[in-house]
Amino acid sequence: MEHADEVYDVIVVGAGIEGSSTAYNLAKFGKRTLLLEQFPLPHSRGSSHGQSRITRKAYGSRDFYTQMMAEAFAMTDELQKECGEQLFINCGCLVIGPRTADFLSKTKSCLKRYGIPHDQFDIYEQRKRFPALSFRDDFEFVLDKSGGLLRSDKILQAFQRQFVRYGGVLCDGEPMIDLYPGTIVSVKTTKGLHRARSVVLTLGPWAAKFLPRLGLNVPLQPLKITVCYWKEKHGGNFNIENFPTFTMNGAAGKHHIYGLPACEYPGLVKICLHHGPNIDPDNRDGVENDWVLDAMKLIIATHFPSLEKEPSIVETCIYTNTPDEDFVLDVHPTWKNIVIGAGFSGHGFKLAPVVGKVLGELATGQKPSYDLSHFKINRFFKTKL
Ligand SMILES: Cc1cc2nc3c(=O)[nH]c(=O)nc-3n(C[C@H](O)[C@H](O)[C@H](O)COP(=O)(O)OP(=O)(O)OC[C@H]3O[C@@H](n4cnc5c(N)ncnc54)[C@H](O)[C@@H]3O)c2cc1C
Repeated sequence: MEHADEVYDVIVVGAGIEGSSTAYNLAKFGKRTLLLEQFPLPHSRGSSHGQSRITRKAYGSRDFYTQMMAEAFAMTDELQKECGEQLFINCGCLVIGPRTADFLSKTKSCLKRYGIPHDQFDIYEQRKRFPALSFRDDFEFVLDKSGGLLRSDKILQAFQRQFVRYGGVLCDGEPMIDLYPGTIVSVKTTKGLHRARSVVLTLGPWAAKFLPRLGLNVPLQPLKITVCYWKEKHGGNFNIENFPTFTMNGAAGKHHIYGLPACEYPGLVKICLHHGPNIDPDNRDGVENDWVLDAMKLIIATHFPSLEKEPSIVETCIYTNTPDEDFVLDVHPTWKNIVIGAGFSGHGFKLAPVVGKVLGELATGQKPSYDLSHFKINRFFKTKL
């Protein structure tokens, strides 16, 4: 086995959005950092591929995310300036649901509490503003004007490119196959051995398979998410200039869905179910998935009558859910120089700039900028580790 002489400050394993942001933050602040990725980049096997994600400032009753979002917006803006490319389109984020729904009242109260600009309106106003949508009379709408669309593939590339510009070393096509804890941590890959003072594991869905090898049976469940693009019958109603991103609870079949305006592919609107079958990430497409498409077709026929009944394009992505859908941002209970970022539960992209900052802080022994008590590994266990 090859032994590299260099001892890095930090090795980050996993170059999805969370690992790439962590590596960027570390290199930017002068830490000698290696970023390892198992697949040749770019790839579409994990959770961070694709051209668009939703962002918004209000996070319902989970104030700890709302507080982080303020800095996430500022950091995305900074990255935008560094790379000279537009990474965020401020088209708004519309929250849709039955008037009595808990999540709707929590969103409204969060927007008010934090003074985030928003509009609240009923079905009659919706029919004027967004005539291509169809809802029952008891539905209500809240537009978070600060929200919009993140150009996710460009953000991922920007983090990786800037990381290398700041002196970071990026090795793709090099899976970690083992990890040896210690004052100096050794990471064994298919190509050799790398050493560092600390390691950050941002393995996405593969965390569920690797963490038990470090004695951590964190309840992480990878889900297959079916990404559907629906063609407009007449065009023009869902352009990014006149239509926001949206999330909706209580869609036909009582599902939670979300959508983004026609932006990635001309005339195609991205609308997806916020759920899917459990999977092993190494056998992502080997599951029965028809019920997801059936549920989506019913939702489109009921609420989006101006879209074709069948999706034109279907792609796949993976969520890694925790039982409470909050992230894991913590150090290993025994080896404090092994840091874990996992379980981003289908909402981790918008927070990635801040996640990268705090994982970097944990890896370099600094006090985290945020209270991380909601993100502890211990919360899953009655007997504390
Ligand atoms: C369809 C879809 C829509 C979404 N929409 C939104 C949204 O609108 N807003 C939002 O905020 N979030 C959204 N999310 C969630 C967000 O995209 C994820 O939370 C985020 O991408 C998670 O990133 P990650 O870095 O943890 O995982 P990943 O992107 O999977 O990265 C993990 C990386 O680790 C690598 N790896 C694993 N094991 C090893 C190893 N042994 N050696 C080396 N490398 C390894 C993997 O190959 C992978 O590249 C969405 C997710 C999906 C799937």
